[in-house]
Amino acid sequence: MYWDRSTETMERDTLESLQLERLKKTVEAASRSEFYKDRFSSNNFDPAGISSLDDIRRIPFTTKDDLRESWPYGCVAVPKDRLVRLHSSSGTTGRATVIFHTAHDLDAWTDILARAMYMTGMRESDVFQNMMTYGLFTGGLGFHYAAERIGALTIPAGAGNSKRQIQLMKDFDTTVIHIIPSYALHLTEVFEEVGVDPRKDTSLRIAFLGAEPHSEKTRQKIQEYYGVDAFNSYGLSEMNGPGVAFECPEKQGMHIWEDNYFVEIIDPDTLEPVREGDEGELVLTTLRREGMPILRYRTKDLTRFVPGPCSCGRTHRRISRITGRTDDMLILKGVNIFPIQIEKKLMEIPGVGNNFLIILEREGYNDLMIVRVEVLREFFSGNLKQLEQLRRKITEELRSDILITPRVELVEPNTLPKTEGKAVRVIDNRKD
Ligand code: ADP
Ligand code: ZN
Repeated sequence: MYWDRSTETMERDTLESLQLERLKKTVEAASRSEFYKDRFSSNNFDPAGISSLDDIRRIPFTTKDDLRESWPYGCVAVPKDRLVRLHSSSGTTGRATVIFHTAHDLDAWTDILARAMYMTGMRESDVFQNMMTYGLFTGGLGFHYAAERIGALTIPAGAGNSKRQIQLMKDFDTTVIHIIPSYALHLTEVFEEVGVDPRKDTSLRIAFLGAEPHSEKTRQKIQEYYGVDAFNSYGLSEMNGPGVAFECPEKQGMHIWEDNYFVEIIDPDTLEPVREGDEGELVLTTLRREGMPILRYRTKDLTRFVPGPCSCGRTHRRISRITGRTDDMLILKGVNIFPIQIEKKLMEIPGVGNNFLIILEREGYNDLMIVRVEVLREFFSGNLKQLEQLRRKITEELRSDILITPRVELVEPNTLPKTEGKAVRVIDNRKD
C-alpha cells in the first residue's frame, strides 16, 4: 500500500526535524546562486541563521517575476556541468520560467511521483498511457520516468491525436491514463464518434487528472464516462512539476510530500500566514533540490489546509482542490470572478456539454461577459423552446453565483476551440 512506508507515515516531529535539516542545507545551497546571493545581502539575511522552521519567515519570498528576471542561469546553485536537464513552465500567464535539474534532483522527483502514483493503486502490472505533451512541459517526462520506476509498461502517447489515443488504449489494454481534465471531456466526443465505449471496450481503471483547475463535478463526469477512479494531481514546474501534491484513495484533499517541500499558506495581501484551514496563496520551498533551490515561492494558487490527519495513515499534510490562481482572476464591474467558479456551476447543470469559453468585451463604458457553452446535441434538434429554457436557466444559475448577468450563448458540441494542452477559458477583448 505504501511506496515508502517510513517516509509516508513518519511521525510529525521526526518529519519536522528532517525538514529543518533539509531547509538549512537548501538555504545554504541557494546562497551559491547569483540571484539568492544578491537577495540575501540586500535583505541582510544570513543564510547560516536558520535554527528553527519558523525562521523561514525571515527569508524573502520568490516570485515568478524573480525567476523570469534571473533568466537564464541566475538561480542555478551548482556548477553548470552538474546540470543534466531543463524544463520550463507552460507560460500560461506570460513568459515561461526555466528550471534546471541535476541527476540527483531528477531521481528525487521521480521517486516522489512514483510514490504518489503507487498511493492510488497503480502497480507494475499496469499499462500506463501518458497523454501529456512531451518536451519542455513537465507532465510528459515527469510522469514517464515515474511510471517506469514503478515498473509499469509506459506508453509515451503525448498529447492530441485523439483517435490514435483510443486505438492505443484498446490495442495495448491501457489501465492507467494521465490526462488534462478538459481534454478528457473533449475525448468523450471522439469515443462516441468512433463507437468505442471506454467502460466496455477498454481496461481503463485509474486516471490522473492534472495541470489545470477542475471541479469535483468534472472529476465525477470523467469517472462515470471512463469507468475509472480519478485522482487529482497538482504540481508546477518551479517545484519540479507533477508530484507536489496528490490525492490518496480517501480523496479528501491532496497530500503534499513534506519531506520534499516546505508548505505555507499566506494571505496574498498582508503576506502573513492565514489561520489554519483558511484559504490563501500556497507558498512552497524546495527541500531536496540542489541544482536550483527555490525558497518561499509564491505559486499564486489558492487553496487551504485540510485539517486533521488522513485516515490513509500518511502524515503529510493535505491541501484542498485549487480554487483559482490569483493571476487568472477576472475583475468585471468590480466583482472578482475565477473561471473555475463558472466551470463548477456549468458542470452541475444537466444538458451542459463538455466545453465553454468566457469572452470579455467592452461595450461603451461597460464590461460585458459572454459565456459560450456547448450543450448536448439533442437541444438543437426539434423544439427550440427547450434551448431557450436552458439558456435562461444557465444565465440565472451563473448570475446567482457570480452576481453579474452574463450573456449566455449556447452552441453545438465540438464547436468551441480546443487545445492539446491546458484549456484556454478566457478571451479578454477589453484591452486596447
Ligand atoms: P504555468 O504556470 O505557466 O501554467 P506549469 O505548467 O508549471 O506552468 O503549471 C503549473 C500551474 O498549473 C499551477 O501553478 C496551477 O495553477 C496549475 N495546476 C496544475 N495542476 C493543477 C491541479 N491539479 N489543479 C489546479 N491547478 C493546477
Ligand atoms: Zn490520505
